[in-house]
Amino acid sequence: MATMLIDGQTVGAQTGKTIEVRNPANGEIVDTIPKGSASEVDAAVEAAAKALPAWASLSGTKRAAFIEATRVAENLEFFAGFADKLRGDYVPLEDQNKFGLTMRRPVGVVVAITPWNFPLTLMANKVCPALAAGCTVVLKPASTTPLATQKTIEIINSVGIPAGVLNTVHGPGAEIGDALVSHPKVNKIAFTGQTETGKRIMKLAAENVTRVTLELGGSDPMIVCDDADIRRATAATAIGRFFNAGQACLAVKRVYLFEQIAEEFMTKIADRARKEWPVGDGLKEGVKMGPLHTERQRAEVESQVADAVKRGAKVLAGGKRPEGKEFEKGWYMEATVLRDVPEDSRMATEEVFGPALPIFIVKDLDDAIAKANASVYGLGSSIWTKDLAKARKAAELLEAGYTWINDIQVAYDQLPFGGTKQSGFGKEHGIEGLDGYLEKKSVVLAY
Ligand code: NDP
Repeated sequence: MATMLIDGQTVGAQTGKTIEVRNPANGEIVDTIPKGSASEVDAAVEAAAKALPAWASLSGTKRAAFIEATRVAENLEFFAGFADKLRGDYVPLEDQNKFGLTMRRPVGVVVAITPWNFPLTLMANKVCPALAAGCTVVLKPASTTPLATQKTIEIINSVGIPAGVLNTVHGPGAEIGDALVSHPKVNKIAFTGQTETGKRIMKLAAENVTRVTLELGGSDPMIVCDDADIRRATAATAIGRFFNAGQACLAVKRVYLFEQIAEEFMTKIADRARKEWPVGDGLKEGVKMGPLHTERQRAEVESQVADAVKRGAKVLAGGKRPEGKEFEKGWYMEATVLRDVPEDSRMATEEVFGPALPIFIVKDLDDAIAKANASVYGLGSSIWTKDLAKARKAAELLEAGYTWINDIQVAYDQLPFGGTKQSGFGKEHGIEGLDGYLEKKSVVLAY
């Protein structure tokens, strides 16, 4: 059985209760984790609060040495490099015998809550800048995917990070989430997950004026203009939609095609969906798309597709579960493409977190941008065109934290990433990724 990590110790739940972690490809139990409760939340936050003063005042060089010694490679290296380069400013004041300084101080005890779709990356996006900034951390991974996270945290911790600096607590978010978010000793919550969960966390955080960064849901639009390279654009669309079985925050979730290239694009993307995305157990040779995460997750995507079809959408590829014995126990779904999807259907207005792509046809760029922006979400976006004027207009007007031009949605460590609108706020990655873990303090020195 996996454990939690509290105050430098690997521990089980006091109640002895556990949660089963299952393989979505066949439903088999992989391992169990302790089912933590409010008392473990309290122990972890207390440990992080106790460890904070010493960790925060350790020199950046020493903090960097701890972080570098671990293996969640790029992210750790990127932020470890900042730990000894945090600096403030000297500010001349109008008063001649005084001057001002700004210092950057760690925000304090951080609660990091992560989802299941990229358990390690999304953990690293929070833990690495937090530790580099001098914060201490209590991490709660998703209950369905805690194993790799727990292992990685134990490895990071094994390099000698002082007890209490980095802690994990497992347990259902619906049960222990409130205790984590509302704990009076927590100074900041770094959350990635659904928009509805984020809204609840933001409300609760208001009680203690706890800082939050929220990386929430998305429904990224892709615009394909009449001058686009259709071969490259369809290849990118297929990866952008079917990678990780469509379970990615940044993903091509709505496609807007100029009329002139619409038929050619739809024929090609449907072809790719049928031929290039073999479904199966992700551990098998030749498989490109594994199962969805849970039965509930697949049912949700299927009901979104059914809603579109009921309202007149046509299925160009997929639209159903693959048939055969090997698929009976997993939560599989074929790579799916739909056209004539109504703009008020669930696929257009909600986040589709699975391998199903709705396609819409637009008159021109203004029409495309207006429709792309007609969403409560604003995470990523993309445009395919050879016309720099169109590309620039899209980059300026698309309401999103990221716009890719003739490229696929890869988030770079060097560039800040985060949403607008109901996709949340606050940045991860980039130098800006540190900002959420630091507070600027002004100092006046009279001499
Ligand atoms: P959830 O919001 O359901 O869960 C995310 C995390 O929050 C889990 O650890 C969960 O625990 C926990 N949680 C659940 N309820 C509460 C609560 N009341 N209080 C505190 N914590 C709680 O999201 P999903 O796991 O379903 O993740 C998918 C979503 O994440 C999608 O909407 C996706 O777009 C978004 N996402 C956003 C990204 C971004 O950077 N913007 C990146 C990746 C995903 P438990 O597992 O125990 O329920």
